[in-house]
Amino acid sequence: MAQFLKLNQSLMISDNLKQVKSRIDSVQSRKKVELIAVSKTRSTKEIQEAVDAGQVHFGENYLQESIEKINFFKGSGLIWHFIGPIQSNKTSAIADNFDWVHSVDRIKVATRLSDQRNPALGSLNVLIQVNVDREETKSGVDIENVGEIVSEIESLPNLSLRGFMTIPRPENSQNSFAEMKQLISKYPNLDSLSMGMSADLEIAIKNGANLVRVGTDIFGQRSYN
Ligand SMILES: *Cc1c(COP(=O)(O)O)cnc(C)c1O
Repeated sequence: MAQFLKLNQSLMISDNLKQVKSRIDSVQSRKKVELIAVSKTRSTKEIQEAVDAGQVHFGENYLQESIEKINFFKGSGLIWHFIGPIQSNKTSAIADNFDWVHSVDRIKVATRLSDQRNPALGSLNVLIQVNVDREETKSGVDIENVGEIVSEIESLPNLSLRGFMTIPRPENSQNSFAEMKQLISKYPNLDSLSMGMSADLEIAIKNGANLVRVGTDIFGQRSYN
């Protein structure tokens, strides 16, 4: 019985991955779109199933659980994206363990990530999180302040600024994605837009997203205990 359940679940994750990839492929895009499997709260076993199905990019929000998983998969060639809110006393572990950070929203955090990144690891890829809907409760830089933080981050030696990330209000995502597309067009040296989740990845890709972050549609509903 246990054997049967396990088989069933791994079939589910690989089937789900196939479905999400075909949704991505159904949208025309000038850029290659990379699927990031958001594995927060998921076990190493679930991640292994996605890896066995060919998944390489994973996104994590919570530092402590992510470090355990990253260590578990050391040497497997996986690419890890930090996508959660960043406390400035946690930057060192993020700089040591991740390949990408999507949620940089203040210069203090960027400076610490650069100072703490071991240059032997190569530059840490960073995205500036933009609060496109100007929501009080959401982290991210307001659009009018993006220019300033872009030039400050570009001067930091161990970071490679790649673009922007956003989490729009679901009911307004079409307009917000279009606003992000316009924003990044002002920075021809930036090549990455991280936007689009399970529900709205097609609209995001139509608006230039090349990094989409999908959790639920790959791994099923999350249960937080
Ligand atoms: C959890 C999370 C996702 C994935 O959301 P799903 O609804 O599970 O697809 C994407 N981006 C961020 C920043 C998240 O925290």
